[in-house]
Amino acid sequence: MELIGDRIWRANGARPGKNVCIVFGTHGNERSPIDAGLALVAALESGARAVDAGSLLLIHANWKGTEDGERWSEGGVDLNRCFHVDVLAREPALFEETRAREIVTALEAFDPSVVVDFHCTVEPGEKFAMHHPSVLDPAHREVTRRLTTGVILGDPSLAFGAVSLDEWASTRGKVGICYETGWMSDPSNTGEAVLAEMENVLRGLGVLEGDAIAYDDKRFLELDGRIECAGDGFAWEDGVGQNLQECAAGTRLGAYADGTAVELEADATLIFPKKRPEMVERGKPLVYLASRR
Ligand SMILES: [Zn+2]
Repeated sequence: MELIGDRIWRANGARPGKNVCIVFGTHGNERSPIDAGLALVAALESGARAVDAGSLLLIHANWKGTEDGERWSEGGVDLNRCFHVDVLAREPALFEETRAREIVTALEAFDPSVVVDFHCTVEPGEKFAMHHPSVLDPAHREVTRRLTTGVILGDPSLAFGAVSLDEWASTRGKVGICYETGWMSDPSNTGEAVLAEMENVLRGLGVLEGDAIAYDDKRFLELDGRIECAGDGFAWEDGVGQNLQECAAGTRLGAYADGTAVELEADATLIFPKKRPEMVERGKPLVYLASRR
């Protein structure tokens, strides 16, 4: 185990195999992935765990946010929006922009075939994994089947704009996955639980020794639409507007202040609905829509 950069560790196996990168703490206060990642670092350092084949890169992405117990550093921005080519090309301004470059430099040198970025959610909701290529992409599916989640979301048209770390990887021919391990305040979302998920992924890829478990009972969804906010004072209908909620055609989502209703034209799963009024902005998405595959 070798420290090859600022909070970036590399461990090599004795045999050839895949180069795999696990990232945690891209949002500095997402404790369960951070506890899991640091436990994996400690286990590799002490010799309690060893890489069997290939190489493993571990990155504590926004360690500065973690030190402050915050999502990002003071005055900072969302690190997971700093991986767009335009942001990477300009003179970095804040810690997060500098850090995005450090991470990209380390990834370019390491050349992983798989990058999994572990998160947890601020809002209550079930765990899910998302990635840019279609959910039918076999290389991504081979990794997501090792995750306990029952929901995989694909974004083939890059609706989210190629800004995140997983998108950086998947738009460069690698497997890039963002894994939301569940709500950060869910008592079952612990460092131990996330560590077990990391280890299962690594076993599946042959990096750690042992048999991996396959979790093949999943809902495969693909982003294929959005509803933009077209008025003022939008209010959601009671009981509507949970992330991953399945709604039938004709479901009334809510209404603007002038009474104009917003209804679904076709069956859809709601993705990242903007439930808090301060997040609703005219001309910006009110909600993304996905369909089953
Ligand atoms: Zn996050």
